[in-house]
This record gives sequence, structure tokens and C-alpha cells, in this order.
Amino acid sequence: MAELTRVRHWADALIALHLDPSWTFGFDTAKTRAGLCNYTSRRITVSRYLASRYDDDEIHQVLLHEVAHAIAGTRAGHGPRWKAVAAELGYEGKRLHDGAIANELAPWVGACPAGHVHYRYRTPTRVLACGKCSRRFDAANTIEWNRRPVSRSA
Ligand SMILES: [Zn+2]
Ligand SMILES: [Zn+2]
Repeated sequence: MAELTRVRHWADALIALHLDPSWTFGFDTAKTRAGLCNYTSRRITVSRYLASRYDDDEIHQVLLHEVAHAIAGTRAGHGPRWKAVAAELGYEGKRLHDGAIANELAPWVGACPAGHVHYRYRTPTRVLACGKCSRRFDAANTIEWNRRPVSRSA
């Protein structure tokens, strides 16, 4: 569990060390990604939901990922230039931190008869069939949904 004040401290230090002083840091309320690098507002943000759930090392990696985006520039994407910058900063890249990693926060968890697990943020309102079992709708692969409690310690 990373403390938000500490996360902010690291972020400010990384920005001071690697970026132009016009860059700032803040928290956002995203639930489906960990970090964001906004080139227009020159701002790096991190999800406060995930920051409070990740451990220190993990959230530090998220910060390095985003700072690398800021240095490499918007057109670098996750290509070789970004990778080189990120590696230089100490990003290990075990997983891509702005991917769909926030399934742990999705309140609806479903499973098809074959056991494929699915996540939804909104209440499923119609019958959904498993897309992994068949690309086409097949009622035999109907997903059974269960709502679970999701804690959002901020
Ligand atoms: Zn990224
Ligand atoms: Zn399935």
C-alpha cells in the first residue's frame, strides 16, 4: 500500500530530476488504468484508486513509465525510443502499466461454462456470451455474473 503523500513526493522528485519545470503531477480518479501522461497540459497523473492499492515498488514503476512518456514524446508510443528511455530510468516493464490492469476494481465478475473470467464495471443488462469460447453469440456460452464488493480506499 503506497501512501499518496509519498507517491506525490516521488513524482515531484522525478519531474524535478528529468523534466522541464512546467510539468506537474496530480492524482486522478481513473479505474481502468494506472497512470497518464498528458502532453497538452504537461501533467502526469496517477489513479488514486490504484495508487492506494499498489505497493511502493509498483507505483514507482508506474511513475517511471509515465515520466518516460514525457521524455520520449507523444509520437514515441511504447516503441523503441520510449523503451530505451524507460529502461534508462529503471523501468522494468514487467507489465504495461497503462493497460487494462484494473480488473481488480470491477464490481461484476462473470464466468462462462468453460471457466473464462470476465469483468464489467457496469451492471450487465443483457445476456452476454463468452467471446473466448466463440466469436459469435452462442447461448451455450452464456456468462453468469456475480456482483462482488470492491473496496475503494483512497
Ligand atoms: Zn504507456
Ligand atoms: Zn468461455
